[in-house]
Amino acid sequence: MPKYIPEPFRIKMVETLKTTTREERERYLKEAHYNLFSLRSNWVSIDLLTDSGTGAMSDDQWAALMKGDEAYAGARGFYKLQDAVQDIFGYKYAQPVHQGRAAEKVLFPHFLSEGKISISNMHFDTTRGHVALLGAEPLDFVVPEARNTEDYHPFKGNMDCPRLRDFLAEHRAQVGVIIMTITNNSAGGQPVSLANLREVSAIAKEHSIPLVIDAARFAENAYFIQQREAEFKDYSIKEIVQECFKLADAFTMSAKKDAIVNMGGLIGIKDDEELYEKVKITTVPMEGFITYGGLAGRDLEILAVGLYEGIDPNFLHYRIGQVNYLGEKLRAAGIPIQYPAGGHAIFVDAKRLLPQIPYYEFPAQALACELYLEAGIRSCDIGSFMLDPDPKTGAQIEAEMEFTRLCLPRRVYTQAHLDQIVEAFCAIRDRKDSIKGYEITWQAPVLRHFTAKLKAL
Ligand SMILES: *Cc1c(COP(=O)(O)O)cnc(C)c1O
Repeated sequence: MPKYIPEPFRIKMVETLKTTTREERERYLKEAHYNLFSLRSNWVSIDLLTDSGTGAMSDDQWAALMKGDEAYAGARGFYKLQDAVQDIFGYKYAQPVHQGRAAEKVLFPHFLSEGKISISNMHFDTTRGHVALLGAEPLDFVVPEARNTEDYHPFKGNMDCPRLRDFLAEHRAQVGVIIMTITNNSAGGQPVSLANLREVSAIAKEHSIPLVIDAARFAENAYFIQQREAEFKDYSIKEIVQECFKLADAFTMSAKKDAIVNMGGLIGIKDDEELYEKVKITTVPMEGFITYGGLAGRDLEILAVGLYEGIDPNFLHYRIGQVNYLGEKLRAAGIPIQYPAGGHAIFVDAKRLLPQIPYYEFPAQALACELYLEAGIRSCDIGSFMLDPDPKTGAQIEAEMEFTRLCLPRRVYTQAHLDQIVEAFCAIRDRKDSIKGYEITWQAPVLRHFTAKLKAL
């Protein structure tokens, strides 16, 4: 069993956890139409719904918040943020936006339009949504190893380069952009190797296709490269980040993940001034003036600090260690997970745990509901429920993997909380054969999983 890596910080402020009874949880879940996004956070004890915007800020970030000035134009924080992006990523241009999907909304129209194709190792759900909203088609070319949840592979987040090459040989003209998601969230928070990024970058260059990094978890990905890719074991996290980003042309980032802020996003552009000018023009009507991009001045300050805290090697050692600890304890309890553990979350393989539930009755959603009922723990479906129906036929799409995702917010929960999660899974494991699926009774046309209503079968 892996040792729990002690927190490299001590607690300065606390938030009381809510407790509920089983009867209350049954009532709340019914009221939420069996959609965990519709639960009030007051009804949740341990919230593993997302690691997005749920991290705990540091004393340095709170101090930076007080230093921020609230100028419409030219706020101090904007320049600090620009300096941090130039220093950490080696990119010339930084455009703040209010969150990751806003970065997608502002940047993607410059690459995609009706009939175009976006190729990714795997599009995250909002990324997929923005590609589709532009009338373009998102294609996922993750390596086949990602689909085998049982066997170890150091970089299950990688792009399948032979497949990418074959596809481009026939359809180059339609492809508007290649997006590398690091870490690969939808494949289980699995890392992408630098060797793979290099190969994708070479292919993109060969075909003159822009390469964009979806950089939400750039620091966790760099830590995995340092640990698992021999060539980079003596590189610092920052050096690895720079090696990765020099291979791309631009990045979109949800700063709510590795940059440990509660709200914020970024577009980074390496050196393409023309693209930066276009991005500025679209940012103003969509997000706000360029030096705040939908954020308060104080948010810009704490984001500049958070980018550095996110690449702190002691923090990353603890952070990745904590996720691994949860994963190994679950495995030891006989719970199938995407193995090895990813960077920000454990992805429980609901298809293997609940084989009696077919994809169109959403096994991962059923497991998430069960976990809430058992112990007030909130998680979410990353499987067939998360996928919108086929835009042409309206048919339910079968996801390649049915995951119930347990996200760990940064610097929030302790070892005892993780042990509590494992205990809840043990109780569910002992009655797993009696667990049933769900049916959708209402859904929105895009990104349905956030608001859909379900009914228990
Ligand atoms: C969270 C996330 C996004 C979207 O960012 P938001 O800040 O939630 O809008 C995009 N891509 C990936 C990989 C993400 O994890």
